[in-house]
Amino acid sequence: MPLLLLFDIDGTLLRAGDPVHAEAMRLALFEFVGEPVALDGIPLAGMLDRQIARLALLRHGLDNETIEHLLPEILQQTGKHYAERVRRGDRRSWVLPGVRDLLPRLWQQGHLAGVLTGNTELVARTKLAAADLDQLLPFGAYGDQAEERHSLVAHARFTVKIRYGLDIPLAQTILVGDTPRDVAAALESGAKVLAVTTGRFGPEELRTAGASTVLPDLADVDRVLATLHELAARP
Ligand SMILES: [Mg+2]
Repeated sequence: MPLLLLFDIDGTLLRAGDPVHAEAMRLALFEFVGEPVALDGIPLAGMLDRQIARLALLRHGLDNETIEHLLPEILQQTGKHYAERVRRGDRRSWVLPGVRDLLPRLWQQGHLAGVLTGNTELVARTKLAAADLDQLLPFGAYGDQAEERHSLVAHARFTVKIRYGLDIPLAQTILVGDTPRDVAAALESGAKVLAVTTGRFGPEELRTAGASTVLPDLADVDRVLATLHELAARP
């Protein structure tokens, strides 16, 4: 039975804290609002880019209607700025331990690996290409496709159905992520979750959020594979 693995990007596949990403969004917000819009104090970890931009604009005093109108273009522009600044190869050193070994092993075993990320599609695909991981994570669900992270699980499963003709049950769908928001997305959607502490959160915080399985990282590929199979076998 193939498993569907949906990996978060920042803090899970790549080291967290991409300054270029935040800068690209700041620049896009500036272009559409006409003055600097602060991102300080917004809890970025695990948030969708769409939610981050919305919060920043609300805090800046814009009304909901204006925000709805501006959001698609701001997100599009964020992706363009990001792509202009990040060249292929720039993110190779950002790849976290085990990731480069784990992803090919998953495909060799007949499983499907994609991303489920708060990044917009353009930012995510640029980031993965720059890290040389794009071929190993050929599909995904992205931060400009939903209002809430848990809704992205259905997007990803639908994409897999269209692209591979596979209807993988939720019990065999596993999110891999580093924040309480990844854990919540899995719980709320009915998928399973493997939490890792390579981001900003420790095992306690992730367990409190509802993660039953927490690993320090993805470095021990055999252990990760065994853990994923064990999760999928649970009722
Ligand atoms: Mg993350």
